Amino acid sequence: MRVKLELIIAGSCRHPACMVTGKGGLKNITFPALVGRITHPTRGTILFDTGYGKALSESKDLVARCYRRILPYRLAPGEACIHQLAAAGISASEVSGIILSHLHPDHVGGLEDFPQAKIYLSRAALEGLATRTLFSRSRLVLIPDLFPRDFSSRLQFVEDCPRVSLDHAWGVFEIGADIFGDSSAIVVPLPGHAPGHFGIKLKTIKDQEVLLAADAAWLSCCYKEMLEPLLPARVFIHDYQAYRQTLLKLHNLSKTRPDIAIVPSHCSEAIRSLQHDLV
Ligand SMILES: [Zn+2]
Repeated sequence: MRVKLELIIAGSCRHPACMVTGKGGLKNITFPALVGRITHPTRGTILFDTGYGKALSESKDLVARCYRRILPYRLAPGEACIHQLAAAGISASEVSGIILSHLHPDHVGGLEDFPQAKIYLSRAALEGLATRTLFSRSRLVLIPDLFPRDFSSRLQFVEDCPRVSLDHAWGVFEIGADIFGDSSAIVVPLPGHAPGHFGIKLKTIKDQEVLLAADAAWLSCCYKEMLEPLLPARVFIHDYQAYRQTLLKLHNLSKTRPDIAIVPSHCSEAIRSLQHDLV
C-alpha cells in the first residue's frame, strides 16, 4: 500500500563532519533531526521518530545534562514536530501512531507531545531502557524523563507484527515486519547503532521506494564510501561489528537499487533530495 510521506526537521545540531566520516577537517556541518510524517489511507497520521522536544531541554537527569553539553542542539520556536504539525492543521490527537527507530534523545524527544499515539518499537530497544546503571544508561544514551508515564501501556512490538519476506530486489535485507499488516510500512532491521535499531521501507503515492534508515549511517556518504566514524562517535555505537555490517548492506543496496531513496535521519543532503522528489 502506498502512503503520503512528508519530511519534518525537528531541531538540529552542529558538529565536525569528520566525527562521523573519519576524514576531512574540523569544519562543522548541520545534522538535522528527521521526522517522517506518514499519512496512511485509513490510520491517519503516523510519525517515524519525533525529533527533539522540550522534555530534553527540561530534564534534570544527569545523562540529559551531559548530553546537552556534549551534543548541544537547536530547537527554534515552532520547530518541534508538534508545532509544525499544528501549523499544517494536524492536532496531536490526530497522530495515531509513532514508530520509533531507537530510543536516542533526538528521536524520542517529542514523545510526550503525543499522549494518544500508539508506540511501535523493537523489544530489544525496550530491554535497553530497562537498564538502570548510570554507566550503561550513559553509553546507551537513555534518558527516562523523555518517556511518558504510560509509555509501556501504549507499546506494540514490531517483532509481533507479521513477518514478511522483502522483495527479491532488496536482497541484502531479507526479512521485515509489516507493521500495519498492509505493506504500508515495513520494518527493516538495521542492527548496530543502538539496541533494536531499525528503519522502515515505504512506497510513496508517487511510487518512490524509500528506506528511512534512521542512524544506520549518519550521512549518505558513510555508506556510499564505507566511511567509519572516529573513536568519540564510535563510543556511542551499541555493537560496532553489527554497525559495519549494516553499513555494508546499505552500500550494496545502493549499488543494486539506486532507485531506492535511502535517507539517514541526520543527512541534510539525502533529506533535501527526497524532499525535492516528494513535491
Ligand atoms: Zn541514534
